[in-house]
Amino acid sequence: MRHSRKYDLTLGRAAPTISSMDESFEAVQDFIRVILHLDMDAFFTSVEQVDDPLLQGKPVVIGQSLRGVASAASYEARKYGIKSAMPIVQAKKLCPHAVFLPGRMARYREVSRQVMDIIRDLCPLVEQASVDEAYADISGTRRLFGPPENLALRLKAEILSATGLTCSVGIAPNKFLAKIASDWNKPDGLTRIRPIDAPAFLQALPLGKIPGVGTHFKEELRRMGVTTVPDVLARPKAYWAEALGKRGAFLHDRACGIDDSSVVPGTDPKSCSAENTLDKDTLDRALLERQLLIQAERIGRELRGIGKKGLTVTLKIKFHDFSAITRSKTLHRPTDITKEIFDAARKLLAAEKLPQPVRLIGTGVSNFRLVQVELPLMPDATRKRSRKLDETMDRILDKFGSGSIARAETAIRDADTVEDLLSQKNRTLNGQ
Ligand SMILES: [Mg+2]
Repeated sequence: MRHSRKYDLTLGRAAPTISSMDESFEAVQDFIRVILHLDMDAFFTSVEQVDDPLLQGKPVVIGQSLRGVASAASYEARKYGIKSAMPIVQAKKLCPHAVFLPGRMARYREVSRQVMDIIRDLCPLVEQASVDEAYADISGTRRLFGPPENLALRLKAEILSATGLTCSVGIAPNKFLAKIASDWNKPDGLTRIRPIDAPAFLQALPLGKIPGVGTHFKEELRRMGVTTVPDVLARPKAYWAEALGKRGAFLHDRACGIDDSSVVPGTDPKSCSAENTLDKDTLDRALLERQLLIQAERIGRELRGIGKKGLTVTLKIKFHDFSAITRSKTLHRPTDITKEIFDAARKLLAAEKLPQPVRLIGTGVSNFRLVQVELPLMPDATRKRSRKLDETMDRILDKFGSGSIARAETAIRDADTVEDLLSQKNRTLNGQ
């Protein structure tokens, strides 16, 4: 695996400006918010390379099916132009000798937990942002650890020794800038953006790196003659708020390097739930079931992410006149499987008369139990298949973000393999 380099704490790649600050100024930083963002480098493929030394130094791609897409690519594979979300067929053309693997989500989650434990051990306030990313508010840790760079180096060293993996760390006055910083000098990077340096970093930032600025928004901006951060800043915030509402104000804030959002630590939850107020009050059971499916997916994913299984599924309905009911069902065994959560919620709904149109519907899973070892004496093909589907969905969602894939009910019944799902994703990406 890559070895941790020696850091000089100036910026590696095309540093816009480097401000040299003396110690007295450093002390003042105690009063400024210090946010750290840690992002594992090419996480899935790096785990594969650590677990199988024969893969080290080789181009590795997660995704095998010729109808599927790559869900991750090692740095060696990226040199050939392979990126995640690229069709496998195309990746194979770019680099026929790359190693294509199916991916092992359970293993990645296990390593993820190790990494998160290290971060939580050292940092006071930690928010896990995804399977391989976390924010930490490390304001006021200077007395304990010295300058934030020391803490970052210690995190990197402990993660490397525990897992054999490198990560990139960004340090900045807020979450948005910290994420830009961690991305600045990948892999194995350590970058600090001080408030005074922020404008120079932002000048060079592609608009697509601002959260929420996707392909469509970028195109919209392009039509307005705006393609860079300085273009955004050339017009006042009032203009943006007027032209694009909240999105506009948000865009202008980020272009200025402003982000007030705080690091929200994951607490130990007692239940997971999701609910939706419908666009229009309805008696349409098919529509209500669709909501339940979306909610089951969200809850299942959350449960799997935090490693919990619940024994009780609850359905909540609020009617047109705001009266509400809740109905619960206790399962035979604790679950974190989307299909089982959905099935239970659906049965609860089916058992209810709907005396008036439904205004809000919600699903919850509670009564968490220790995760039990499944008995090998009772092989359960359905459960195995549901679990495999969930793992695939999680993988896609981790990679592409929520909203990237919608599971049709038919997918639950019919998707047999990881490949089917990935090819489905492929079709989505190709707009088919
Ligand atoms: Mg990463």
